[in-house]
Amino acid sequence: MRKNIIAGNWKMNTSLSEGLSLAKGLNEALKGKTLKCDVVIGAPFTHLASIAASIDTNKIGVAAQNCANKAQGAFTGEVSAAMIASTGARYVILGHSERRQLYHETSETLKPKVRLALENGLTPIFCIGEVLSERENGMHFQVVDKQMEDLFDLSSEDFGKIVIAYEPVWAIGTGKTATAEQAQEIHAHIRRVIAHKYGPERANDCTILYGGSMNAENAKDLVAKPDVDGGLIGGASLSVEKFLPIIEAF
Ligand code: PEP
Repeated sequence: MRKNIIAGNWKMNTSLSEGLSLAKGLNEALKGKTLKCDVVIGAPFTHLASIAASIDTNKIGVAAQNCANKAQGAFTGEVSAAMIASTGARYVILGHSERRQLYHETSETLKPKVRLALENGLTPIFCIGEVLSERENGMHFQVVDKQMEDLFDLSSEDFGKIVIAYEPVWAIGTGKTATAEQAQEIHAHIRRVIAHKYGPERANDCTILYGGSMNAENAKDLVAKPDVDGGLIGGASLSVEKFLPIIEAF
């Protein structure tokens, strides 16, 4: 079923003790509140188990920010989907533009990551989105169509377990947000692409998040759009004061 989700992506920020106090602070702030969305925090690998053990994971889901494209074995430095699941995390952010750009993630690496995440019961938050030159050249629809194809080997049932995050790269960490109209336009397009592949019911059920400089000021307008089901938030997820009003934007 389509859900509203506000997910934080802490990226490579916070020491273990800082991360724990941020997670506990959010946990405290949400106590007793009835929320209109699910809340997820995407923490560094080193923090996952401690965070999952110290918050109410029925209220706040824990996400990793990547996983290995192999199940197990001689892959020094990698962290598998099974290891992530064993920490109590329930989500994994995959295909973030920073990983695509800086670590050269491609369809070839992302497809097995998605498959392994699903096999281990993790919900992939699969990121797609165009860079500025592609937007300026009117290529953004084609870019997301191509990125979505990496998911289209999945059965309809497995596709139903994926969360999509549309993140225009030019809006990530730049303070430039897509307008609510721009977000709605492309989210509706993504939903049409899903409907074409898997049918209208699957498309209607799919959660599509917006990401890119989302904050307390712009969140209300964005989530008011019919095809925007929440957000993936970087910078503003690093403090409870900034993250909470986004969660409360629904
Ligand atoms: C992100 O990293 O996914 C993101 C959206 O970052 P920010 O909110 O800082 O633009």
